[in-house]
Amino acid sequence: MHSSTNNLLNIKNELNNINSKINIIAVSKNFNIEKIMPLIEFGHMHYGENKVQEAVDKWTALKQKDKRLKLHMIGKLQTNKVKFAIPLFDYIHSLDNLKLAEKIFLEQKKINKSLKIFIQVNIGKEDQKSGLDIKNVEEFYRICLKSFNLNIVGLMCIPPITGNMRDYFNKMLELKNLVGLKELSMGMSNDYLEAANCGASFLRIGSKIFGERN
Ligand SMILES: *Cc1c(COP(=O)(O)O)cnc(C)c1O
Repeated sequence: MHSSTNNLLNIKNELNNINSKINIIAVSKNFNIEKIMPLIEFGHMHYGENKVQEAVDKWTALKQKDKRLKLHMIGKLQTNKVKFAIPLFDYIHSLDNLKLAEKIFLEQKKINKSLKIFIQVNIGKEDQKSGLDIKNVEEFYRICLKSFNLNIVGLMCIPPITGNMRDYFNKMLELKNLVGLKELSMGMSNDYLEAANCGASFLRIGSKIFGERN
């Protein structure tokens, strides 16, 4: 068995006691097709990328061959890249401003496609991080529905590296329930167990599956 497949199975095993229905996004950014292929052949369907151009290059042909593959945009999305992102991706995890919401709306309309979208929350109030402040999430969500008819499925966060992860994840769960959304995208290689324990429904795991990135 290939090491990435082995790693994925180990993670699934750990998660079985917590939530066996949790979705694992294998974050394949910076890894080439050869490295990803064994996991696709094993039958894993959810992959995450953080750059539109890299994703287009790597995934366009693969997705045409296998329609079951689901691609997640987990990185910052520039408005000028949205027209390339919409045809390729199935999910966007990084919506955090109205200009982007409008652009997604317009590009989706052009090709009659509706992606599943997460609103990114800056849960640790960090200056350098993207995402909305907690207090603005509910109103932003309403506008996305009313003005742009977006299919918002949940909330996403990248918590600070230091501090108590559980506090951040619990805050996310509370906020998700308050707003009335279904999904929570949180938890990476270093904290996916905590995230799963706090109600995450989509984990974004890279290095723990594929190994260290260059
Ligand atoms: C790279 C990345 C991940 C995966 O990180 P690992 O620590 O390798 O699991 C998850 N989420 C986002 C937004 C990322 O950019």
